Order: sequence, then structure tokens, then C-alpha cells
Amino acid sequence: MNIFEKSQAIKNQELKAKDNLDNFLRTIDNTNDSINAFLEINKEDAINKAETLDKKIQNKEKVGSLAGLVFSIKANINVEDFIISAASKTLENYKGSYNATVIDKILKEDGIILGITNMDEFAAGSSSETSYYGITDNPAAPGRIPGGSSGGSAATIAGDMCDISLGSDTGGSIRNPASHCGIMGFKPTYGAVSRQGLIDLSMSLDQIGPMAKDVTGLSMALDTIVAHDPSECSSIDYKKPNFTQTALNAKNSESPFEGMTIAVCDEFRSITDDKINKIVDKKINELSSLGAEVIDFCFHYIDLCLPTYYLINYVEFFSATRKFDGRKFGHRIEDVCGDEVFRRIEMGSYISQKEFSGKYYKHALKARSLIKDEINAMLKGLDFIMSSTVPKLPHKIGEKLDPMEMYAYDVLTVIANLSGIPAASMKAGEVDGIPVGLQIQANSLEDEKIIHALSALEEI
Ligand code: GLN
Repeated sequence: MNIFEKSQAIKNQELKAKDNLDNFLRTIDNTNDSINAFLEINKEDAINKAETLDKKIQNKEKVGSLAGLVFSIKANINVEDFIISAASKTLENYKGSYNATVIDKILKEDGIILGITNMDEFAAGSSSETSYYGITDNPAAPGRIPGGSSGGSAATIAGDMCDISLGSDTGGSIRNPASHCGIMGFKPTYGAVSRQGLIDLSMSLDQIGPMAKDVTGLSMALDTIVAHDPSECSSIDYKKPNFTQTALNAKNSESPFEGMTIAVCDEFRSITDDKINKIVDKKINELSSLGAEVIDFCFHYIDLCLPTYYLINYVEFFSATRKFDGRKFGHRIEDVCGDEVFRRIEMGSYISQKEFSGKYYKHALKARSLIKDEINAMLKGLDFIMSSTVPKLPHKIGEKLDPMEMYAYDVLTVIANLSGIPAASMKAGEVDGIPVGLQIQANSLEDEKIIHALSALEEI
């Protein structure tokens, strides 16, 4: 049963919302201590909500589209009355004082918000090893990192602890853990989902998006959270499709890729491990047999991607952290944060000081334009760019990587954030029992097309 079918079953009284929740609660009881995916749950409220929904359904009262589906939320998205720490000691005492726009929308559609998930501190990482609350394990490859920074969210999905999770993606933080945990993750077009209520990592790159086991879960979440938000400056207004309908239609289509063109890049393949390439190539070749044309493209700026991304990230993060000076939230960030967060603050401060002479940041913005123009030119007249999501397998927990090795996980995911385009990851297969992801990128505002592709691919 996929998530859409489950939601129908709940509405038709074939499955009780309470039973759906209880299944997850049992799993959480048994496994969360060792996986460390949820930082906090509110069992009582969730049970009350599920019971109320079951009663309403019994009485034939109207309920929302997400009625009875259980959500987990990354610890950098404000949810009233939960500790929203961004997995940092800096915010260990901060209780969400309001709901992010996306949370209000989920609640309005009767989704059940069960709890808050672990992550890399302030979303600055790719492994979920830097949380103040300890490391998260990977339920799909125990003993290995789940990826990051939304590793806790991915683990709640892969570990059967909820239906849908919301993560944030600044340079890959939804897609990278989706890839490592063998689930689906979606980073929408920049501005399509309101960031109001998200704790910034790097505001010109940050985007909230859904993670789930199947495409109907992603689609139902997108139908709820994609919307113009006048209270948020980067929010855009575009004609919103019906993502769930698109996903369902794709499953019934005879030749879902007929007439579509997919670009693959040697520059992406050459930095990806051979074993991962093999799996991803196989998936892409299957698409040719379904009517797609696969063509080779050249992306000239692969070497620019990480330096450009990290430079912008450091500067914007430094500026975003100035409010954590100890006066409002208890701790001054520099006094209590971990190494990676400290590195970014120091670097961001240094780069900002040099900015009057236009030494670094100005160049990074120019490089960002080059990357964006190149990607847009590449996608012109094309439908998708496909590649691996992460070029390496997740390392074993405890293995020490230097910062550059850690950053290298992001090389294929930062491109979408730098250029604002939508991108998703789905499981392509396994290498030695470890999941690897296929990344699908499309033109700005063509989020729906990615849902179509994910759904068609899921079906085969
Ligand atoms: N790993 C990247 C970083 O450390 C991406 C993080 C993210 O997307 N939040 O910045």
C-alpha cells in the first residue's frame, strides 16, 4: 500500500488513523534509542489527534487531505511547543514559539506531527554526525552514516517511524540522506515552498522539501506546502499543479518517457565511484527502452561548484548567526557550537571583512551566475539531467573525514541550489547492500515533471 492508498484507506475506515500511528510508535519504542532519529516526540497529542480524526471520519465529517498521515519534522523548522534546537547546544532551550508556514499547512490538512528529528548542527554537514544530541544511524545500512544534514528525517522514513518527513536542502541535505537511506527526497524550485519559520543556514540556497518512501508521499506533501507566502520575501507564485494526480497518472501511462530527453554528463560520471555509476547507468538505460532519448552533455564548471557554494554558504551563515549572541537564546553560538559551525562562522567573518575590496564574495556571485547560466542552457529544450545523487557511498560511523572530503559528498547536489532548479533523489539500487540514489534535475518550475518521472520509475 503506498501513502496515497493508505490515506484513502483511513478515509474509508479500512484503517484507523490510531492504528497507523500505533504501528509507528511501536517501532519508535523498539528502535529509536539505537537509531537516534527522533529527538523528541509528543505521543499524547498525536494519539489525541488520531482518535479525533477517527471519530470525525466515523461521523462522516469532512477531514483534510493528509488526515491520519504521520509526519516528522527536521529540528530547524519551527513547530510550536517542541524544542527547535537545529541540533545545537546554542538553541537547546528554545521552544518553538510559532509554527512555520509549512507546519500550519500540514495541520490544516489534518496531518499528525509526531516529533522532531536529528540533523547536523545548523544543517551544516552531510553526515548527521555533528549534532549536539549524538550521531544518527542509517536504518538501511546500519553502522554507516545516514547522510545529512536531514539524516534524522531520512532515518525516520527508512526506519518506518512515520509516513512523511520535512527536511531542508541548502546544498543537498534532503537528497543526500535520501540517497544514503534508500528513500525519496525532493528539493522544490527555490521559492516554491515558504521558508518562513526555517532557521537559516544560507538563505539564498535554503529550501524546505518532503521525504517519503514513495512518490505519492512526496506529492501529497507538495500539494500541501507548495504555495505563495506573502510573508516570505523569496516566495514565488506559480501555477500549482496537482502533484498527486500527476503521480497517479504517470503510473497508468503506457510510455511515460515518450518524447522526453535526458541529459547525462561525463563530468558527473568521472567523479562518481564506478560501482555507483554502474547502478545509475542501468537505471537511465531502462529509460531509453521506455521511449526517452538520452544525450551526452558537457558541464564546464564542475570544479567551480563546491568553492562557490561554500563561499556563499559561509558568508550567509555568518550573517544569520549574529542573532545567537547569548542575549535572547541563552548561549553565545561561538561558545558552545561544534567545529564545523565554528569553522563557517570564522570563515564567513573573514570573507565578509574582505568584502569591501570585493575579494571573494563578489567572485562567488559571478561564479554562481556562470553555473546557473550553464545549467539553464543545458536544460533548454531538455527535460531532465540525471546522475548519481552522491558520488560516494556513505562512510562508516566513526571514520574520520577531513572537511574537504566531507564537502565532496555535495558536489552533485549543490548545483540545483546554486541555480534554484528543482531536484529529487530516488533509490536506484544497492552497492554491496548499501542504497545509492539517482538524482533527477529539471528546469525551474518543472517540479511536476520530476514527480512524473519519479512515479514512472517507481512503477518499473
Ligand atoms: N552538506 C552541505 C553543507 O554542509 C549541505 C547542507 C544542507 O543542504 N543543509 O552545507
